[in-house]
Amino acid sequence: MKTRLEPQTGTAFELKSGQTLRVIDLEGEQVADLTAFSRADPTEWLSSGRSIDYANTIYLTKGHLLYSNRSSPMFTITADDVGRHDFLLTPCSRETFAIIYGNTAPHPSCFENLWRNLAEFGVAPDAIPTTLNIFMNVEVGPDGTLKILPPRSKAGDALTLRAEMDLIVGLTACSAELSNNGSFKPIAYEISDAT
Ligand SMILES: [Zn+2]
Repeated sequence: MKTRLEPQTGTAFELKSGQTLRVIDLEGEQVADLTAFSRADPTEWLSSGRSIDYANTIYLTKGHLLYSNRSSPMFTITADDVGRHDFLLTPCSRETFAIIYGNTAPHPSCFENLWRNLAEFGVAPDAIPTTLNIFMNVEVGPDGTLKILPPRSKAGDALTLRAEMDLIVGLTACSAELSNNGSFKPIAYEISDAT
């Protein structure tokens, strides 16, 4: 059964070892930020640095493992329709909009949508690490300059991850204008039991 995340919202839920999580871009060009913590000990978290280091690429895709800060596998990417996701940048926050765009007005953000939903699992805002920004299209220039381009995802494209331990997962439909080619769309996700 698919669950729909309305534009600029988020959620948190448990995912058991062996279950798969399919994240679907319903309309195309929409980013979904994902983070995870060990169910047994939430001080173990999904680590961008370790995952990129061990995969030896910043563009993680089918076949790659995503590791925790303790170097334990948390997920395996088992299917990927798009092949371009970001794992360098933090979830957009109120401060992101103020610092990068000079926008100090109230603005929904992935960071707030994550910590508000993860609070019930005992995860504090400061514990939220760099997220796997599913469908986010970040290009790195030869001089190291980053360029945020429209996502390559089309309507119905998905990324599928298998949990390698019992997890608490946070997931959003991203709230940043630039990451989503200027419009905010829903995201869907589907959890399947081990087959
Ligand atoms: Zn965001």
